[in-house]
Amino acid sequence: MIHVDVMDGHFTPNITIGPPVVAKLRAHCSVPMDVHLMISNPEEYVPAFADAGADIISFHIEAANHPHRIITQIKEAGCKAGIVLNPGTPHDDIEFVVNDVDMVLVMTVNPGFGGQRFIPEMVRKIQYIRAMLGDRDLEVDGGIDDKTAKTVIDAGANVLVAGSYVYNNPSYMAAIDLLRKAG
Ligand code: ZN
Repeated sequence: MIHVDVMDGHFTPNITIGPPVVAKLRAHCSVPMDVHLMISNPEEYVPAFADAGADIISFHIEAANHPHRIITQIKEAGCKAGIVLNPGTPHDDIEFVVNDVDMVLVMTVNPGFGGQRFIPEMVRKIQYIRAMLGDRDLEVDGGIDDKTAKTVIDAGANVLVAGSYVYNNPSYMAAIDLLRKAG
């Protein structure tokens, strides 16, 4: 998948890209697009990202006043719905919405910038959430390399987001292969 980190300078102390860039990317790739909204008021932007070609749209529980409503909105737009937790957010904050989502994304760094160091305390959260999720997707995002990949896979993650680790490797494919084999 192509994982797209959307930041708004509000919810996250950085600004990245919006729906027009996702639409342009969509035209150049055939794999699913996994759009991670690190933004305030995600419900206002779900339609634009769905129209831009997102296959999965994830939003932060910390940014949602009515998470069930947003999950329904994402599914009605024809996308899979994911919910995301910042490192400081307890796993049981999603206890009463977890049965409605297709995926949970556990942030293993605080969102905002690439190249940050994996927070080891998140291993326990991944284990808790794997127990809540059954066999649905558990994604991790932040500080993933060939070493932390094994740690998070052992804890129950099955979808790994990697930015710096891939882009800093002379061969993107070799880096991705190492992550795939890490478990
Ligand atoms: Zn992300």
